Amino acid sequence: MILSKIIPGVAHSFLYFGFLLLFFSTELFSMHHLRPISERINMHQIRRVAMATMTASRFDYPKQEAEAPKILRYGDPKLYEPSLPFDLPKEMPLVHEVLEQMKLATKGMGNVGLAAPQIGILKQLVMFAVPAEHPRYKTDGVAQPMRIMINPHYKHLSDEKNLEWEGCLSVPGMMGQVKRYTHIECTYIDLEGVKQSFNASNFHARVVQHELDHLRGILFPLLVENRHMLGFTEAIMESEEFKKSRGF
Ligand SMILES: [Zn+2]
Repeated sequence: MILSKIIPGVAHSFLYFGFLLLFFSTELFSMHHLRPISERINMHQIRRVAMATMTASRFDYPKQEAEAPKILRYGDPKLYEPSLPFDLPKEMPLVHEVLEQMKLATKGMGNVGLAAPQIGILKQLVMFAVPAEHPRYKTDGVAQPMRIMINPHYKHLSDEKNLEWEGCLSVPGMMGQVKRYTHIECTYIDLEGVKQSFNASNFHARVVQHELDHLRGILFPLLVENRHMLGFTEAIMESEEFKKSRGF
């Protein structure tokens, strides 16, 4: 029993020593420039393989996590299709399955909004949280906790609209100015199967309208009226137009 533990240990030490010898001997040869260049490159490659083999034998490979669904990007035809409502209560288990996939897709992203079609599932489900402050967006200074909405609808409470910047996980690295209703009322079914409704204004209302647009196959760049007001986030944040809108 003891021998069976010692022998692999001793063998490993010899192997390690051998690699060290190979490392230093090739280093000496290459230092003295005694060998042709092609041969020195080969020795360098051998050393790299040897080091990689040692590393692989000494550490476990990282455990693989469940693969996150890909967030579809602007241009993918699936993003322009309308989503179907869930047939409740029959499809409530499906709601939970889709929601799990959506959470997996946005894991570690913090306060975000996502609609099911953004991961290629054409069903009416959205999730979003509203941050109190945001470096890019004109927020309300009040955070809204994560809300999960099944089969949602909204109606505007007045004709008042406002023009502000927004972005989207399906349009990474870009921003655009979009006109949205300032005050809305939203109704939806919650995870308990109960009908809910709430009023939202300003940034909160903007997020709701943005997410619900995904269910109609509409992405924010399609709503940008002044095409100069659509571009890469870094460039826009440097622009006078953006700074002026933030009161800089
Ligand atoms: Zn979006």
